[in-house]
Amino acid sequence: MVHTKTLKLRIKDKHAAWLGALAREVNQVFNFCNEVSMKASRPYSGKPKWLSGYDLQKLVAGATKGDDGLSIPSQTLQQVCEEYATRRKQFKKHKLNWRVSNPESSKYSLGWLPFKKGAIAYKNGQIRYAGKCLSLWDSYGLADYELRAGSFNQDTRGRWYLNVVVMAQVKPSDGTSSLGIDLGLKDAATCSDGQVLKSRWFREQELALAVAQRAGKKQRVKAIHAKIANRRKDAMHKLSTHLVRDNAAIFVGNVSTAKMVKMGNGKSTLDAGWTMFKTMLEYKATQAGIVFDEVNEAWSTQTCSVCSSVEGPKGRSELDVRRWVCSCGAQHDRDVNAALNIRAKGLAQLAISKAAEAKADEAVLNKEPSGSEAGHGLPAGGILALSAQAAAEG
Ligand SMILES: [Zn+2]
Repeated sequence: MVHTKTLKLRIKDKHAAWLGALAREVNQVFNFCNEVSMKASRPYSGKPKWLSGYDLQKLVAGATKGDDGLSIPSQTLQQVCEEYATRRKQFKKHKLNWRVSNPESSKYSLGWLPFKKGAIAYKNGQIRYAGKCLSLWDSYGLADYELRAGSFNQDTRGRWYLNVVVMAQVKPSDGTSSLGIDLGLKDAATCSDGQVLKSRWFREQELALAVAQRAGKKQRVKAIHAKIANRRKDAMHKLSTHLVRDNAAIFVGNVSTAKMVKMGNGKSTLDAGWTMFKTMLEYKATQAGIVFDEVNEAWSTQTCSVCSSVEGPKGRSELDVRRWVCSCGAQHDRDVNAALNIRAKGLAQLAISKAAEAKADEAVLNKEPSGSEAGHGLPAGGILALSAQAAAEG
């Protein structure tokens, strides 16, 4: 199922001047449309003509071409013409109010930059528009949406926002498998199927950061930090979307940030951004109607996921131990083994709650007609597959 909605995202203030300059061009185009439309509908001689958006587009065609042409993209130019014609028709007026670019004026028009579908693109946490990459607070995870038409808008405080119509896929997950996730320090997250979310983007950029810091380039330092944050968020969005699509249940260890900060790894903890990742997983899981739960991760590292013997690496002193062999002969990657234990715990937890739910359902079954499972989030196949899995794994 596909549905459209409009998202509003705050653009970073460093782009305000640039957007403001483009908005002044939009005002010029709008006022031009106003002038020619007015003259055409009340000509000195000849037949009055009511100009359409298409007529106006023909009149401004080419205005963005050449060295002294406008800087706004042609899609914005066309959209201004269309919106002008639409509003004029809607208000049944010969002339609309002029758009005022002077911020000192009491009639100042708040910045407005409309665009058509295809005029903006999302990449690595930024929006590309008119040849420039704009940073923004991406609270929705734009990577998950197909972007359509919209506009950049200024508010009374001079802040800029992106308002964009998006197509959202609300497809129930068709995954039947379950997944455990171990949140860690070396890698931000290790999945029971071996997928990994790297936590140390910081490392890759450390050299560039050190150089910029020594040279006292504050803007550059800020830019590198922002780049790291954008990359991380983007990677988290991609992995969480993909995990929710492929699984019917996801379980995460309940490691608390406070606990890890106490261990003296505060910097790494912040860098890993566990909380952000969990939040993403949770809302995406809810949207897709799959199970998401946190489980107590105590002993998940030390316990063998094959024979349940407790002999794996312990605590921080053995944090460097990446691989170990259990006396039963099983060879383990430390974090994948932990993720497998988290998954087993989660499935056991789920089996208990499902059993309780089934009992409750049974009690009311006689009163309820058919279709009682309609309200459940989990697809029927998913529940059966999970129960079978939990039973098999004991
Ligand atoms: Zn073992």
